[in-house]
Amino acid sequence: MVSTIRRIAVAMVSVGVTLTVAACGTSGASNTTTSTSSASDTTTSSAPSKTFIIASDNAFAPFEYLDTTTNKYVGVDMDILAAVAADQGFNYEVRNVGFDASMGQVQAGQADGMIAGMTITDERKATFDFSDGYFSDGQILVVQSGSSIASLDDLKGVNVAVKTSTQGATYAKSISDQYGFTLQYYEDSPTMYTAVINGSNGACFEDRSVIGWAIKSQSLNLKTVGDVINPGQYGFAVKKGTNADLLDMFNKGLANIKANGQYNEILAKYGY
Ligand code: GLN
Repeated sequence: MVSTIRRIAVAMVSVGVTLTVAACGTSGASNTTTSTSSASDTTTSSAPSKTFIIASDNAFAPFEYLDTTTNKYVGVDMDILAAVAADQGFNYEVRNVGFDASMGQVQAGQADGMIAGMTITDERKATFDFSDGYFSDGQILVVQSGSSIASLDDLKGVNVAVKTSTQGATYAKSISDQYGFTLQYYEDSPTMYTAVINGSNGACFEDRSVIGWAIKSQSLNLKTVGDVINPGQYGFAVKKGTNADLLDMFNKGLANIKANGQYNEILAKYGY
C-alpha cells in the first residue's frame, strides 16, 4: 500500500516536472528567469511569459543606430519600442540584423516582429500586418553636393545605388526604364551613401529624414534633389496572420505614449 502511494506520488511529481519543462520549452531559452513561477501564475495576465524577438535595421539613424560610446542601439524606434513594452508589460529582445534580413526573419518566423523605419504599403500588407503609423516620411533623390543632377531626367545612363528591399529600391526600379538608369543594390544605408560619395554611383534614393540626419551629423558631401516621393507612415510589423497579441499591445502602447507625452519626448530627443 505504502509503496503504491509512493509510486503515485512519484508519478505526480514527474507529471509536474514534465509540464514545467514543456511550459519552458514553448517560451524559449531567454525565459529561464521567469520559469520559476508556479503553474497558477499562468492565469495572471500581467505575468511576463514570453520574450518577443524584434528584428531591426542596423544603421538607420535616427531610428536605430549603434551608440559607439555605450555600444548599444539607440534611436526613435528603439525608444518607442521600449516605451510601448514598458507600458504594456511585455519582454522583448531586439536583433539589429539589417532591413532586408529583418523582413526575412519575420517572414521565416525567426522574429516575432520588426521595427525598422518600415513604410506601411499595400504591397507589404500581402505578407505583413502593420501597427498604426508612428512617423511620416518618404523617399528622396540624393547626389553628391557638387553634382549637376537636378531632376530624374538627369539620371539617364547613371548607375543608381539603392538599399535591398526598401521603398527607395522599389520606386527606383519602377522608373528605371522610363529614365534610363541602372540599379546597384546595397545591404545597408551607410555603404550606399559611401558609394555615392566616392563616385561609384551617381545617385541613391533614401528616406528624407534619414539622409537629412546623416548629411547633418556627419557633414557628408551629399545633397537632396527635388521633393519627397511617396510620403507614407512607418509602422511596426508582424508576419501576416501571426502575433496579433503583440500587434495589439503595440497599438495600445503607442496610443498611451502619445496620450501621456512620452512619444513627443522621444521625437524631441532626436530633433523632431
Ligand atoms: N522606409 C523605407 C522602407 O520601408 C526604408 C526602411 C529602411 O531602410 N530601414 O522601405
